[in-house]
Amino acid sequence: MNNIADISNYDQCTSCGMCSAICPVEAIQIKLDENGFYRPEINEEKCIACGKCKKICYRFDQNISLTAKKNVHAYSAVNKDKELVRECSSGAISEEIMKACIKHGYKVVGVEYDYEKDIIKTTTTSDVNSITKYRGSKYFQSYTVEAFKEITKNKEDKYAVIGTPCQIYALRKWAEEHKKDNLLLIDFFCHGIAPVSLWKSYIKEFQSPFLKVDFRTKDYGWHNFATRFIDADKKEILSKRTNDQFYDLFFSELCFNNSCYKCKARSTVEYSDLRIGDFWGKRYASNMEGVSAVIVNTKKGYEIFKEISPYLKTKKVEFEEIISAQSYGKPREYDARKREQILDYLKKNKIKEAYKVYYNGLSVKVKTLKSAKNMIKKCPIIIQSRVRGIMKSV
Ligand code: SF4
Ligand code: SF4
Ligand code: SF4
Repeated sequence: MNNIADISNYDQCTSCGMCSAICPVEAIQIKLDENGFYRPEINEEKCIACGKCKKICYRFDQNISLTAKKNVHAYSAVNKDKELVRECSSGAISEEIMKACIKHGYKVVGVEYDYEKDIIKTTTTSDVNSITKYRGSKYFQSYTVEAFKEITKNKEDKYAVIGTPCQIYALRKWAEEHKKDNLLLIDFFCHGIAPVSLWKSYIKEFQSPFLKVDFRTKDYGWHNFATRFIDADKKEILSKRTNDQFYDLFFSELCFNNSCYKCKARSTVEYSDLRIGDFWGKRYASNMEGVSAVIVNTKKGYEIFKEISPYLKTKKVEFEEIISAQSYGKPREYDARKREQILDYLKKNKIKEAYKVYYNGLSVKVKTLKSAKNMIKKCPIIIQSRVRGIMKSV
């Protein structure tokens, strides 16, 4: 065969879509499987056994190792534009990066909402006025193939790509293989990724089609995740402040893509020029506006970070401080039976039943802690900030 099917199961498939994007004879299609994860389907009759798909596939690489300590530079960063910080996830860094990249002739690549299909997809743009569509972390799988095809087939343009570490891994492998230097690769601290079925079953109660979906709004503060919908009647609907089924199921870690549990890509910064994310942990525990963490991994990454620095308030910090509050390098255990039950309910569009599997499985201690956190979440933001400042670990 000499193709990605040489490893017969797709358990560790990250759904990056790169195999499909680069296949010279279009023998690979990426489709949703029954659980709502993107998976490749190979037409063996079309395949010419060139082996290109294997060379960039994460599943075949035994040499990915954790970056424990490396010559990287770590920062906290917040955009000086307070309005932008309010509108974006964390400290509004990615939008500044995108603006600078477009100024330097890059096309930027991010994830936008598809309002017709209620899915998310990775797209490209060179229009600085359209980058607001990439705002907000989206937490479920994105369809990447068309964008990645454009990146790998276009010989002229430069691309600045923001994606999950596994997507960035695949792009870096392709760029190395083809000796391409036209990519600026930015990944983010990734916790894992949920299936499309989680989103599809969640939005049933919000009456799609939507005019707008804002992921990670800060209406309840930076630490309290929420989604804002504008429905067809232009009515604004904000997701629940506490016990939100989408975010609770996501953070339960019980419906991630299988590859996320043992993922090596999230625990290395070898493949990206910059890694960004929320600056979680004690230092900004009482901050309710948002702060970014930035890891500068390469000279190329440094040049773009230097370019945007006048627009930011930055502070140099230790790499270890940032990763200690992330899932970086931490093994993740999960209950396979509960995961199966939850995925089964989600594919039947039964999010309430899926939620019950998660909630009923919590210990009394965790339920009590969750109730206490919910009480804090219902307080005015200024009170939440003070409580968080005292507790530092809420
Ligand atoms: S990990 Fe990526 S390249 Fe490998 S099979 Fe899955 S989608 Fe294809
Ligand atoms: S081996 Fe080559 S032709 Fe066959 S699926 Fe992979 S990339 Fe396509
Ligand atoms: S945890 Fe790993 S496999 Fe999962 S989305 Fe993140 S980078 Fe990809």
